[in-house]
Amino acid sequence: MADVWTLSEYSEHGMKDVSLELLGRGRALADSLGVSLAAVVLGHGIEESALQSLIEHGADVVYVADDPCLADFTCESYANVLVPLIKEHKPQVMIAAATTTGRTLMPYVAVQVHAGLTADCTELAIEPGTGNLLQTRPAIGGNIMATIKSPDHRPQMATIRPRSTKKPMRDGSRVGTIVHIPPSPSWKNACVEVLGLRSLEGQNASIEEAEIVVSGGKGLKKRDNFTLVEDLAKALGGEVGASRDAVDRGWAAYPHQVGLSGKTVSPRLYVAVGISGAIQHLAGIKTAKCIVAINHDEHANILDLADFALVGDLFTILPEIQKRLEARRQ
Ligand code: FAD
Repeated sequence: MADVWTLSEYSEHGMKDVSLELLGRGRALADSLGVSLAAVVLGHGIEESALQSLIEHGADVVYVADDPCLADFTCESYANVLVPLIKEHKPQVMIAAATTTGRTLMPYVAVQVHAGLTADCTELAIEPGTGNLLQTRPAIGGNIMATIKSPDHRPQMATIRPRSTKKPMRDGSRVGTIVHIPPSPSWKNACVEVLGLRSLEGQNASIEEAEIVVSGGKGLKKRDNFTLVEDLAKALGGEVGASRDAVDRGWAAYPHQVGLSGKTVSPRLYVAVGISGAIQHLAGIKTAKCIVAINHDEHANILDLADFALVGDLFTILPEIQKRLEARRQ
């Protein structure tokens, strides 16, 4: 029986937490099928301790491609490594996190290996009897949970929402195999050369992995007021999100958009400020653990989903919260 594979993401800060979470999912699937779990990691200057941490969090095998041309993520060069590897080893399941990298790379690879792909899953399981991967994700604007399978093609590919499961416990006694893939000139992306990376407007927009997200909507009225949301996110140690209306008005950049045509977030705490809770926005926050809504309309949709509601004028409530946070800090 072929293996279960996970795609691991490496940055200069080490292995991303989301990749360790993914190993928990992968381990459960591999155990159900009675096969091995492999982690694939691509990058440059990957530290041995980071590879070891993949084994300690559940991988039996780690395939590593380390080359200067993989230092920065580009879809084509990463696929140039992954596609031949999949064709050679024929895993039956390949999962990645629904991060920008996973969401960009997996469809590109799926087309090249003629496999099905389910994006943005919240649950994965193995179907008893057939061994097919059951891939569950919200559908129709988050109103139903759809379970999807791809029985005819392998690998069965899926991306999984970050923070939809806990990171497995580290077990320092686990042993596994690290396989270094020999670099190949075919890895190089002939079309795109990365000259450098610059963060957008100096803001970190990795809201999918954030533990706390504070989002602002049209209720903020104008760009200048959006700093109230940014200040609260900063005070809480979180990231800034936005509704599509706020993004369309240029109050926040697109990578901050939460919802159907933006990003899906699964933070511990989601604060929605001046957001009505349109179905397209709610689709992006269904897996948040705790939702706090600040809205002056007690009939706003967002209040139906919220765990806590502060009904009132956001221009009074936000400064008051800041004042209390400040008092607690002293
Ligand atoms: P509004 O709906 O105008 O809500 C503003 C809220 O602020 C209101 O509830 C109001 O009561 C409150 N408010 C106003 N003043 C105050 C005050 N002083 N104090 C407190 N509360 C106040 N939207 C997304 O967000 N993300 C998406 O990814 C997305 N994708 C879409 C895809 C499609 C195909 C379509 C058709 C739409 C999509 N939308 C998306 C748009 C969505 O339908 C809504 O238009 C949008 O979410 C509304 O944004 P909002 O909540 O900021 O604005």
